[in-house]
Amino acid sequence: MPIDATLPYDETNIFARILRGELPSKTVYEDDYALAFHDINPQAPLHILVIPKGPYVSWDDFSERADDAEIAGFIRAVGLVARELGLVAPGYRLLANVGLDSHQEIPHLHVHIFAGKKLGPMLVR
Ligand code: AMP
Repeated sequence: MPIDATLPYDETNIFARILRGELPSKTVYEDDYALAFHDINPQAPLHILVIPKGPYVSWDDFSERADDAEIAGFIRAVGLVARELGLVAPGYRLLANVGLDSHQEIPHLHVHIFAGKKLGPMLVR
């Protein structure tokens, strides 16, 4: 079910529980600002999710409320993960769904990293 990105942060969401260590994840990177782990249902040969450590519903919420250090830390973490996985030369795709029309399912900001094959054009032409 897609979520309404205008709702307040829900501390019981799956990614909040992963951050608290209540649920497992296949972690590939962690620092003060971000956690990166494998998507449980990969849509590409490599499909990583990067989430901020703070309680932000979506890109909208994060870009409005997060402080500069959180934003810099998170953005740098996304780039670092892709670089350390060797994805810059072959290329990769980033995606962040926001709210109902995008079909965002988990109400904690996550950036998808897709890689490992030719991903094709983003939108049907
Ligand atoms: P979105 O539709 O942008 O909200 O994407 C949510 C993503 O979270 C989907 O790709 C799911 O496969 C993924 N997902 C859901 N639960 C878990 C989990 N426990 N661990 C890792 N990925 C998950």
